[in-house]
Amino acid sequence: MKTVRTIAELRNSIDYGKKVGFVPTMGNLHAGHLDLITEAKRQSSFVVASVFVNRLQFAPNEDFDSYPRTFLEDAKKLEAAGCELLFAPGETDLYPVPQGFEVFPPDGLASILEGEFRPGFFKGVCTVVLKLFNCVKPDIAFFGRKDFQQAMIIENMIQQLALPIKMVKVPTRRELDGLAMSSRNGYLSDAERAEAVQLFLTLCQMRESFKAGQSVAEIEVEAMHQLQARGWKPDYLTIRNAWDLSPYVGSSQITTEVFTPDKAASSQEALSAYPNQWVALGAARIGTTRLIDNLEFSLNP
Ligand code: AMP
Repeated sequence: MKTVRTIAELRNSIDYGKKVGFVPTMGNLHAGHLDLITEAKRQSSFVVASVFVNRLQFAPNEDFDSYPRTFLEDAKKLEAAGCELLFAPGETDLYPVPQGFEVFPPDGLASILEGEFRPGFFKGVCTVVLKLFNCVKPDIAFFGRKDFQQAMIIENMIQQLALPIKMVKVPTRRELDGLAMSSRNGYLSDAERAEAVQLFLTLCQMRESFKAGQSVAEIEVEAMHQLQARGWKPDYLTIRNAWDLSPYVGSSQITTEVFTPDKAASSQEALSAYPNQWVALGAARIGTTRLIDNLEFSLNP
């Protein structure tokens, strides 16, 4: 695996005769990230990964400075996973001048859920992802379903800006107890780590209550109380339509037309291909660590 730092070196090092797969990351790699590389190896013939902690997506009160940076270990893991090229720019390589041009994702998707609690987050994500796309010019880009809303927004950005890139969304890799792998899990004390799986278990319980017909409003309130009682500070716990993150509005929604960002030409087509897809999403703080997770499910038997 070759490692490059500048955009010029990157452009000189990519074999555009091959199908280029791209996996953007912020480093501190775990098995979830490596699943993206494995999928990229399967679906493309020249795999580029990036490691870049993107200041633009962190608010001033967030963990940009303390975000774990483990470059040497990351490079070893990427090489072992078969990555061909690692792009690891310094801040001034990617942002040689202040990034005045930015990508503003639509409020309907980007100011809800994560966007409500992390204003500007998706603007920072879209800006760096579009810039990385322009640097790498991949045929296929791989993102994790762990960051459900982020993947949806990037999918919409690709579609609305007509980027010639196929997007692949890779399932969430979990620890044995069910905790979604995350670089931020490293912040947890032993006691917090043991407790952390409760976020996932709460989402599982929300799904079961939803399937049993309990009202979403009730499910959400109960879930909030349950985690609060265990010492968590939840930002949101909710069940949304998996196609556009719209709130559940009653059983009629199950047969109404759904929005499909990527695949079906008509919503009728989508409905038959992807009926009744829902997602339970949550973000909550345990101690000082903010964790997010989600659980996709269908109402079909
Ligand atoms: P990050 O380094 O946190 O920006 O993540 C880089 C990519 O890895 C994003 O597309 C994430 O959605 C994905 N990712 C992070 N954690 C997981 C996980 N547990 N399983 C699958 N993909 C993940």
